Amino acid sequence: MQQVLRLAGLVLVMVTAMGSMSRASAGQSNGDVIIVPQPVSSVVDLAARDLQYYVERATGVRMPILPEGSDVPTSATRRIYLGATRAALEAGLDPARLSRDAYSIRKSGDVVYLVGADGKGGPIDGGLRTPVGTLFAVYDVLDNDLGVRWLWPGKSGEFVPKQATLQIRDRDETVVPRFRFSGLRTERPEEILWMRRMRMHGADGMEYGHSFGDWGKKYFAEHPDWFEMDKKGERHPDKSMCVSNPGFQKQIVENWWAEQQKHPGSRSILNICENDGPGACCCPNCLAWDGPEPPWPRPTPYDTVHNVAQRYARFSMAVLKLAREHDPNVEVVGYAYSNIIFDPSGVALDRNVIMGYVPDVFFPRTAEMHEWVHRQWMGWVNAGGSLFMRPNYLLHGYCMPVNWTRQLADDFQFFETHGMIGTDFDSLTGMWSTMGQSLYVLGRLHVNPKAPVDDILNEYYSAFGPAANSVKAYWEYWERYSQEHLDVFRDGLWFYVRYPEQVAKRFPLESFGPAEKIMEEAERATVGNSDAAARVVFLKTGLQHAKLCVEASLAFSQAGTDTVKRKAAVEKLLAFRKTMTDPMVVNQSDGDVSCKGRETNLEWPE
Ligand SMILES: [Zn+2]
Repeated sequence: MQQVLRLAGLVLVMVTAMGSMSRASAGQSNGDVIIVPQPVSSVVDLAARDLQYYVERATGVRMPILPEGSDVPTSATRRIYLGATRAALEAGLDPARLSRDAYSIRKSGDVVYLVGADGKGGPIDGGLRTPVGTLFAVYDVLDNDLGVRWLWPGKSGEFVPKQATLQIRDRDETVVPRFRFSGLRTERPEEILWMRRMRMHGADGMEYGHSFGDWGKKYFAEHPDWFEMDKKGERHPDKSMCVSNPGFQKQIVENWWAEQQKHPGSRSILNICENDGPGACCCPNCLAWDGPEPPWPRPTPYDTVHNVAQRYARFSMAVLKLAREHDPNVEVVGYAYSNIIFDPSGVALDRNVIMGYVPDVFFPRTAEMHEWVHRQWMGWVNAGGSLFMRPNYLLHGYCMPVNWTRQLADDFQFFETHGMIGTDFDSLTGMWSTMGQSLYVLGRLHVNPKAPVDDILNEYYSAFGPAANSVKAYWEYWERYSQEHLDVFRDGLWFYVRYPEQVAKRFPLESFGPAEKIMEEAERATVGNSDAAARVVFLKTGLQHAKLCVEASLAFSQAGTDTVKRKAAVEKLLAFRKTMTDPMVVNQSDGDVSCKGRETNLEWPE
């Protein structure tokens, strides 16, 4: 046996390459069975059903799912044990020894063990909270042994290559997640399932977010000096905090410790993310904590703001120091957000200071601004903190065919190479037909962060079969289009919530012509191939819908206050939406990030 170390998206900690075993001869695969522990958990149940479903789609053979201890048919030639079975324990595979979301795959001869560290909750209904190691082991096999791809959530996005039999490569390996936590924010179950297939997962105790929203009500009357001071010297309860104030820091730690003691043994994470807005206290102590003004040029929206990165870096360290008096292992979580984003050089951070990096420099970017975003990240990394990606930039684009795949992938790979401990994208807007290529690449980078982007793109295109070249040309057209029109895409930070208002400026009707032509070619190429044709229709429907949105926007702005004309402006669009049956084409839910959510901001009639 030979020890090998391989780096994958999920870091392989131990591989023992087994001698090549002889393959079961054709026909025997009909005897494969899946064996699950009794009682079966929700995680293993989904793992078993997905394994059964995809193997049947690939090979035509439906494997029975049997509870451990029941009679296995004598014709069974290969047993696939999922989760914490007694057989796995007897083979030395104890899930209790695995870290959260980690898994072991052992295949030797006709026995396969897929064993993960699983939680008790649901794999989907708890968001990404429940650990799902066994499910990840199944997705590893479906991905690497069967070649299954999930281009987007739902059936039409499933690419399942035909195989004669299920062939699982001989191996004995344990895989631990590359990231401490990862994911995109969404509540749509199909999308959460898709994220699981991209091996995204939560983390123990990792809860954070704008954290002082209710402090005004609780403390302002007694402690106005904990709150933002304006330039005239007045304090305000509902803005940012006076983070240099020692009494404020002390109260944060007291509150956290009181809560922490109610949950003995739970991980110590202290949330100190500033409220949703700039850090703006003008008191002499806060100002004394600030660093120098960073040089220009700076991207929008950082071109006119005052730098408070050093102030918040010092604040994090002050809170960490106090909290360590209670628990030496505590971690504090803050946001490098708004005017906190700048390189905080001059302040040394502890690695137990975790910062969510929120670069509000939306795509497409100039090369100079792209590099600026990476420079600020490096400032925080070099200061010694632990960073995760927490961008808002996926909120952009409405439902338009914006293609920023390469810049997004470059962000991810740059950060991953330079210390990234996790991801939390705000949000997954779910426009899979018009932004799906970027999303697919982002998903696959979570599986394998070092994968060359072109390899992932080729994987995506090849799922369109005979239309692969046209689909490649289609997405390349939109990527080129956005790079060639940087001037019209240069937006203010909050522009995305009113995107439909000026969508025709960014996507004039004539911009659709070349894309429509390419789509026609793609359709012609897929005649006679129903799977590939359905995928092309998925993209084309999104394109038609986007163009109707532009037409509606133009008509709506011409309608003025005339209610009849306003209604007529969106009539064709709404009628088209009724014909769209796949909820993944564009997000038609009532949520804030859906098409409707954006249009409601402008009072478009429903
Ligand atoms: Zn202050």
